[in-house]
Amino acid sequence: MKKTVFITGASRGIGRAAALCFAKNYYNVAICYNKNEAAANEVLAEINAFGGNAAVFKADVSDMAQVCNATQNARKAFGTIDVLINNAGIAQQKVFSDITEEDWDDMFDINVKGMFNTCKCVLDDMIDKKQGKIINISSIWGIAGASCEVHYSAAKAAVIGFTKALAKELAPSGICVNCVAPGVIKTDMLSSFDESTLSELAEETPLGRLGSPEDIAETLLFLASDKADFITGQVISPNGGFVI
Ligand code: NAP
Repeated sequence: MKKTVFITGASRGIGRAAALCFAKNYYNVAICYNKNEAAANEVLAEINAFGGNAAVFKADVSDMAQVCNATQNARKAFGTIDVLINNAGIAQQKVFSDITEEDWDDMFDINVKGMFNTCKCVLDDMIDKKQGKIINISSIWGIAGASCEVHYSAAKAAVIGFTKALAKELAPSGICVNCVAPGVIKTDMLSSFDESTLSELAEETPLGRLGSPEDIAETLLFLASDKADFITGQVISPNGGFVI
């Protein structure tokens, strides 16, 4: 039977690539977006064009009621959610002294509370079935820390701690929880960097290039698959050797 994946932040970047990749690999795809309805509908149209099965759901992940509504609607559409990918996120570059309380709260509300909210809304079902895969997107900066991104690095480190603890708690229920911590990936998230900074980042990457959203999508597909059934509580970092 076809499995269903629920992907937050699937309108753009890594989430979009994951939606296309999972649909090509015969998953039903719940494309969850927040503001970019047009982009989410484009992802849906692309999936429909190659005969895949998907639907679009709106939710601001920081809002528990919206997340529960979206996951319930996805279950109504597809019957169940087998795989949850917590990908929605925001980043910001600021020296520590310029980070406001509001910046800090936004960073944690979306990157950390968002993941808490989605897990709350899908877990009862996974525990009842005694199976499921949850994959949370962190970042190399959650492992190594980035200058001028203290709030982002702290939030992404929280994603790793959350993943490890939940993996231990849910392993007896047959649910795997893992974390993917990408390196520098060419998406809208890098739009504030100019071309010379992007070239420098590529040069600093031992494999000599920036990552693509597809590089991350393939890692997600593997972790969601039966081939990864003995992997839980791990942080996999597709980063071209940037952080080793
Ligand atoms: P992106 O291109 O900027 O896309 C961000 C996605 O998150 C969009 O689909 C956006 O939806 C969604 N989103 C933002 N705020 C949201 C909210 N409040 N509720 C629901 N959805 C929300 O980012 P990306 O580069 O693909 O990043 C995806 C994930 O990878 C993030 O967690 C990011 O931190 C992580 N990451 C990225 C990189 C990188 O270099 N790009 C590196 C490491 C980790 P709408 O457009 O519909 O609003």
